[in-house]
Amino acid sequence: MADSLKTSHIYRVDLGNRSYDIHIEPGCLKGLGPALNQLLGKPARCMIISNVTVAPLYMATVRSSLEQAGWQVSECILADGERYKNLDSFGQIMDALMQARLSRNEPVIALGGGVVGDMTGFAASCYRRGIPFVQVPTTVLAQVDSSVGGKTAINHPHGKNMIGAFYQPKLVWIDPEVLRTLDCREVRAGIAEAIKYGLIRDAAFFTWMQENMQAALALDPAVISTMIHTCCRHKAEVVMGDETEQGARALLNLGHTFGHAIEAMTHYTEYLHGEAVALGTLLAARLSEQAGFAPQGTETAVTDCFRQAGLPLAIPAFDAAMWLDAMGHDKKNIGSRIRYILLHEIGNAFIADDIPADAIEQLIQSYQR
Ligand code: NAD
Ligand code: MG
Repeated sequence: MADSLKTSHIYRVDLGNRSYDIHIEPGCLKGLGPALNQLLGKPARCMIISNVTVAPLYMATVRSSLEQAGWQVSECILADGERYKNLDSFGQIMDALMQARLSRNEPVIALGGGVVGDMTGFAASCYRRGIPFVQVPTTVLAQVDSSVGGKTAINHPHGKNMIGAFYQPKLVWIDPEVLRTLDCREVRAGIAEAIKYGLIRDAAFFTWMQENMQAALALDPAVISTMIHTCCRHKAEVVMGDETEQGARALLNLGHTFGHAIEAMTHYTEYLHGEAVALGTLLAARLSEQAGFAPQGTETAVTDCFRQAGLPLAIPAFDAAMWLDAMGHDKKNIGSRIRYILLHEIGNAFIADDIPADAIEQLIQSYQR
């Protein structure tokens, strides 16, 4: 169910000595300095890591908040884009950290979308074997999903997120107002990940998203706030139950096995991650129906919702062998089996490890008729 409207709220992600708060509040960007003092004690040095798009928009606000609270701030500004989520940018962060001589208890702050957040978290896990890090997510996707849960990574030419670590932030600081400068296409892609929570564990939230889609797309403050609250609560609950994805956390990968294949087959140039996940979710919904796990009408309901969100609906035409090959290289597979997240119904997902290749061939062919 969608959480009731709140203007300020904190969720605690309870993970023993790795616990942290998710703070969601419009306008909170300018309050990060005092929050960091409260969290880490006496101010010292810190580094803000961002990119060339986000820094001109929000660096000054975050920086002055930290400086006013007594922090000595340095910056590391990376190139913008998934293709820079790589070892070169990682090296650039390491160089900046060495130059700034950050010590073991001095934090880095990720100011940006999922790309900046994933890279900063991974760098934080490695520099001096681990320094504190704070997530300040600035995209819908990062605010509803990637900033919570401690999955950090960079890409390798052989695969997405292949080099990484589970490393939890010390704080997630979410200001929904920063979404106003985001591209409309990016908003839609982030909303796809929000809908995902409805599909895997909260049918009432799925319905709520449908009812409030236009307001969400227009970034209506109350609706966006409720959406972020609900998603962060779900993400936190899932992560608390299975921090390192030994089991149920895998449900968050609904649409991702097919989605990653789509991203790989189109060389990461045609679809945003959230768009590929939406298409992957459509495939998962059809497969769920074809295999008799989900009632008829499930795929249609999912399609209608994504249509309302203005997400792409056309499954790209590749032959089944290419799909299987692309999915065989998905690192989430255990052994050689391909792992799919499927639906019993909307709001109830499960892990399927035993879907035969023919069922996938049939599925792909059903789009080519
Ligand atoms: P992104 O970080 O590339 O951001 C999208 C674009 O929006 C970029 O051009 C960025 O510079 C720009 N931008 C960011 N904030 C803005 C703002 N407020 N105003 C204007 N422009 C802004 O993409 P994303 O969708 O946020 O994240 C995708 C990444 O997240 C992928 O690498 C994916 O693997 C990762 N991810 C990680 C997890 C996890 O659990 N760690 C979960 C899902 C996705
Ligand atoms: Mg994702």
